[in-house]
Amino acid sequence: MEKADNTIIHNGEIVTLKEARQIWAGDTLHKWEEEWDAHQLSRWTHFLFPTVQRRLDMKDLVPTFWSTQAITGHSVFRGYLKTRVRVDSESCPCGFGIESAEHVFRECIRHISGRPTDWEDLTMDHIRYMERITLNLWEEENPNFKTRRKR
Ligand SMILES: [Zn+2]
Repeated sequence: MEKADNTIIHNGEIVTLKEARQIWAGDTLHKWEEEWDAHQLSRWTHFLFPTVQRRLDMKDLVPTFWSTQAITGHSVFRGYLKTRVRVDSESCPCGFGIESAEHVFRECIRHISGRPTDWEDLTMDHIRYMERITLNLWEEENPNFKTRRKR
């Protein structure tokens, strides 16, 4: 209920609209954090962004075609492609596991060059590394894509 002086009654207390917006934003973020924490899929994305606030704080991260694939673990990784029946094998060409986003970016011996050593705090260096590797994988999986890019 809004009153003429730009205050409302929230949970039985009179608050300004500005205070109400802050309360609602806090409540919404709290609920979002709970849902994000409980969500059992997207564990790779959850590893990169353990909290919603962590993602909101990373204001330099503007999603691109490449970073979106890297962050979600979808698209070019054979572990994902196998679930879409796009490849016969989910094995990484390195021979040491399933080609998941986590394997490619943190473990795979094929993508050591430029790999960040510490993954505790995601930075734009991590994003740029993952974008570059994702592009490389696209070129491996789609020879026609590489040919078109070079023109
Ligand atoms: Zn590998």
